Amino acid sequence: MVHFVGAGPGAADLITLRGARLLSEADVIIYAGSLVNPALLEGRKEGCAVYDSASMTLEEVIAVMEKAEAEGRTTVRLHTGDPSLYGAIREQMDLLDERGIGYDVTPGVSSFSGAAAALEAEYTLPDVSQSVIITRMAGRTPVPEGEALSKMASHGCTMVLFLSTGLLEEVERELMAGGYAPDAPAAIVYKATWPDQKVCRCTVATLARTAREHQISKTALITVGGFLGDRYERSKLYDPSFAHGYREASK
Ligand code: SAH
Repeated sequence: MVHFVGAGPGAADLITLRGARLLSEADVIIYAGSLVNPALLEGRKEGCAVYDSASMTLEEVIAVMEKAEAEGRTTVRLHTGDPSLYGAIREQMDLLDERGIGYDVTPGVSSFSGAAAALEAEYTLPDVSQSVIITRMAGRTPVPEGEALSKMASHGCTMVLFLSTGLLEEVERELMAGGYAPDAPAAIVYKATWPDQKVCRCTVATLARTAREHQISKTALITVGGFLGDRYERSKLYDPSFAHGYREASK
């Protein structure tokens, strides 16, 4: 059996209880060494084999899983954040299907949630934005044309950009081409929830400069939108004059 497990965004105590249990029971752990906190490996079983997937190909990862399976051993494939986002798990699951190897998936706290916590922000503010676009800037890895950053930006809603910190001049251009004002609020969150986390508030037009000033070139999320500003409507849910299934209106 192979368990795909979300490690959470960084802090070792942000893995789920289920994920932590699976890790402590694993015979083999394959972890994404470039982003997963190595402290998560400390509670592993004696004799557990550990592989860092940073230097491995998909075929090598699957070969390790296949061998473990043949020996009746359990593998945890530990992915950063939540495995469903930029985790490349689909291709692993398809190859496991071909080989008749069973697996399951344990979700994790994504770095986009870690970033909101670091910012002490709410992505979905009433009257500001009720949608969050999670995307990335096209770079060496392409993005489907219909999802060009300028097109996504044209909605003006909250945006969280993964994997784009090395391309911030282009990010600025695309966001402004899509309609964001140069002084629209933005923030760079570096290593959210890690001890060396950095939160840099800036504007759309100063993203690249801000990253340079703080020497941030990777492991960061770019967040953009009015949710970082001061203006919003309070929620209806907790408004005394608004009745709903669980509460009468009080005035
Ligand atoms: N599955 C992961 C994302 C993997 S892609 C998740 O759910 O978070 C890797 C990218 O995620 C990095 O390039 C960076 O943009 C972002 N990232 C991962 N961990 C981060 C963290 N702790 N703080 C900020 N960004 C992070």
